[in-house]
Amino acid sequence: MKRGIRLALGAAWGVLALASTWTVQAQTPTAPAPAPPSTAGMKPFIVQEGITRRISEHVWEIPDMSRPGTPNVAIVVGTRATLILDTGMGPKGGTAVAHEAQKLSGNTKFYLATTDFRPEHISGEMALPPGTVWIVPTAQKGDIATGTWKYINNFRARSPDLAYALADVTLREPDVTFDQESTVDLGGGVKVKLMSFGPALFPGDLALYVEPDGVLQGGNFLASHSYPPIPDHNPELANYFDALDKMEALHPKIVMPHHGDMRDGTLIAGERLVLRDLEKRSLELKAEGKSAAEAGKILVAEFAAKYPDWGAGPDNIPPAVKSFYTETASDAARR
Ligand SMILES: [Zn+2]
Repeated sequence: MKRGIRLALGAAWGVLALASTWTVQAQTPTAPAPAPPSTAGMKPFIVQEGITRRISEHVWEIPDMSRPGTPNVAIVVGTRATLILDTGMGPKGGTAVAHEAQKLSGNTKFYLATTDFRPEHISGEMALPPGTVWIVPTAQKGDIATGTWKYINNFRARSPDLAYALADVTLREPDVTFDQESTVDLGGGVKVKLMSFGPALFPGDLALYVEPDGVLQGGNFLASHSYPPIPDHNPELANYFDALDKMEALHPKIVMPHHGDMRDGTLIAGERLVLRDLEKRSLELKAEGKSAAEAGKILVAEFAAKYPDWGAGPDNIPPAVKSFYTETASDAARR
């Protein structure tokens, strides 16, 4: 377990550090492409106020600006209540998120959903408006109980900026849990579907879909053209492909990764294509008698040339190859 946590930390940080430069794609008439704001003057790791942008009729985003340790925060506004997705790092991040959410409407009822248990997604919770109802997959409640403080302590020791961002954190237990799916009705026809697809990157990963806007936030299942980190406590990739199928079946109009640039629904098909290709090549190299370690090295180089826009997370290829080496024929046949 210790090794799993360490691997996941390294992999997640690699994705963040290598996030690509700012690009905005206009997805709908309500999502014009603004000039990229400068990140100069932004406090490292802390969600920035004043850059919130509307991405659909009922959904706003505080973009991460490709800054490490900062998630893309979503704010969904109905006539009765507002749902916040992810808090940002520490109480200073949470305060910024709360201010932005309160600016968007007169709603006083708030919900919080969190994509995973790591500090940049939950550790600003204590700064949200009093009475905020925090909803997570049942498995994420377990992830929080066993993992969040480990991450906070690890992050605090990494740099003064992280220690500053994570000062004065207090954690509490989420208010509501669900096993597979839960829908929050925010009023005015705005419904937020919260989904747990089972273990992929972490047991408690959450994805969110907003009706009627067609906005999907895929959590750890959908990074922005980056190889997913495969922790060694969860060596099975079959569930990852199942989750991609389920998200694609929603036919989202806008896909918002929890870190990185926003892209449209083709992100799902693109991710599946690249992962299937990685699976196919892994199995071919296995059949040629190459070890998993050799295949990992070969495929890092091969995929860098083949998918140059998949810039983030090449360190995640060898663990994925290892997973494909150990999966059973019946896993592969299921797809
Ligand atoms: Zn994250």
